Order: sequence, then structure tokens, then C-alpha cells
Amino acid sequence: MARFLVTGGAGYVGSHLVRALVARGDDVVVLDNLRQGHRAAVPSTVEFVEAELADRARVAAVFANWKFEAVFHFAALSLVGESMREPLRYCAENGANSLWLAEAAVQAGVRKFVFSSTAALFGFPKSVPIAEDAELAPASAYGTSKLIVEQGLHWADQVHGLRSACLRYFNAAGADPSGEIGEDHEPETHLIPLCIGAALGTRPPLTVFGTDYATPDGTCIRDYVHVNDLAAAHLAVLPLLEERSLRYNLGNGAGYSVKQVIESVERISGRKVPHSFGPRRPGDPAALVASSETLRRETGWQPRFAALDDIVRTAWAWHEAHPRGYDDRA
Ligand code: UDP
Repeated sequence: MARFLVTGGAGYVGSHLVRALVARGDDVVVLDNLRQGHRAAVPSTVEFVEAELADRARVAAVFANWKFEAVFHFAALSLVGESMREPLRYCAENGANSLWLAEAAVQAGVRKFVFSSTAALFGFPKSVPIAEDAELAPASAYGTSKLIVEQGLHWADQVHGLRSACLRYFNAAGADPSGEIGEDHEPETHLIPLCIGAALGTRPPLTVFGTDYATPDGTCIRDYVHVNDLAAAHLAVLPLLEERSLRYNLGNGAGYSVKQVIESVERISGRKVPHSFGPRRPGDPAALVASSETLRRETGWQPRFAALDDIVRTAWAWHEAHPRGYDDRA
């Protein structure tokens, strides 16, 4: 049994990792400012520190209070569109908060750091599937803010021996099959919850962003990876961090178009997804699909929810049971 610090543990992906850690019998401390996260997403048995990462004294106090085997760092600003309105804030906040957190970990003698990175590092890739050696060329300030952290962590390894795993998530999707935790963003910008909300009538009809891409049906292709499979990858990399730092692209390895997602939601829900077709959304690459071959080969990880319908089924169960999400907004 070990103890782990999870920043952003009340958020979407973080809360699913917390659940996996608790199921293993590990001790967990969650640090979250609850601006996007939800208190109800974290079991009441888990230590919860409501604090800003930017509050370095609070963060130092957390490291002084508990001894951690590793830090899982999810907490971040994560909206690509917002990052293009406030690029400096994104680079400054995501960059500084993460790097000072790593510094606090080093000071406290923590040796392992798992970082939520992103496919946005690759911008408009020259080809798919995207392997780790593809060119790093973010096309948004969000992507740059994550690259800054990856580069800082490289030096933390070289100089301080802090071993880090940077996991470049593709499109996180789905919910824990228990139906107890799931996706609840405000604003919601992600395709699957928007499709489901449109089908349930809790959200307006969907607008499909662009039908003239160079893809088989003209709509964008993304790699949707189940949030529990993402969580499992965080656990799978831990043993390797004894030896060295790691950089992995993390997706299902299969691409689905926007139209295929709509069809899947209609199949699973038995309802229509009201939608119309609109122009492209600026900054959207035609296709983003991960090659997770390195992760699979080196850790044995493989997705348990490989089929889109299986992912959508868990998302549907969560949203149908919780049409207003955690329902904790003022
Ligand atoms: N998308 C769409 N309509 C929406 C939201 C998203 O057509 O209202 C498309 C978007 O253009 C992209 C895909 O759905 O091709 C996935 O978008 P999402 O925002 O979920 O994730 P992203 O790939 O941008 O991280």
C-alpha cells in the first residue's frame, strides 16, 4: 500500500484514477480548487485539500504533512478555445503551477511524477497514427502550455532524478460503469456529452463542425479512449518509473468520425441526436489517432473499452442517471 497525491482529483479523468487507486487499497490525497472539479466525484474517505496549486505554501504544507510514493498531476486549464483568447494565462498558469508542483515534489524527496499531457502537442500532424517521435508542434496555447511542462520535467529528471511519465491523452470519453462518476464540464465542449445532451433534450441540438475534411465521410476523426483505460495507464507506468522517465501517446488506436459518434449515440440510446451541419471550428485537425504501441509493448497496457459503442454506453448511463451532472452548481 502506498500514498499518492492526485491534483485535479475531483475532475473528470482525475476522479477516475482516484477511484482506481482506492479500489487497489492505496491511500490518496486529492488537491483540487473545485473550479472545474466536483467534491462529490471524490469518495468521502479520501483526504481532500481544497486549494489553489498556485498557493505554494499550501502545496508545501501538503508535502510536509504526507509522504507520497508519486504525484499524479491532472489539475490544469484545459480548454483549447479559451487558450487562444488567453494564451499567456494558459502558458503561465499551466506552466508555472506544474513546474512549481514538480519542484515541491523534488524538495520533498518524491521520485515519481505522472503528468496529464495531450495530443495537442502534435498540432496538425503530417500523418496518423501518431507515434511518440512525431514532430512536437502545438497549434494552440493549450498545447504549448503542456509542452513547456514536458520540457521542464525533462530537466527535473536530468538534474534532480525526478522520474516522470508524460501521458499524451487523445480524446478522453466515457464514464465509470458504476454510473457514480462521469463527465461534467461547464462549459461543455466535448462531442460525446454534447451528443448525449442533445438526445436527452438537456442541451441544444448539436452542430457538426465541418463536413468538408479529407476523411471518408467529411467529418473529423478522433481517437476516443475510455477514461478508465486512461486511469489504468497511469497505474501501468508506475513500475517503469523506477528506472527512467517515459513519454507515451495514449489512445485507443482507432479513429471515429463525428458522424460515427452521432450514430453510436443513436444506437445506444435508441433516440435521435438532433443536429445540423456548420462550418469548421478553427484549429481542428482532420484526424487525430494515437499509436499507443510503445505504451502497450513496454507496460502491457491495453484498452478494455476498445469499441466506440462500449465507451458511449458508459457515457450514456452516467448522463441518463445524472442529466444535470453532479448538480452542485450555485
Ligand atoms: N465537434 C463537433 N461539434 C461540437 C463539438 C465537437 O462537431 O459541438 C467535433 C470537433 O470538431 C472534433 C470532434 O467533435 O472533430 C471532437 O471534439 P472535442 O471538442 O470533443 O475534442 P477535441 O478533439 O477538440 O479535443
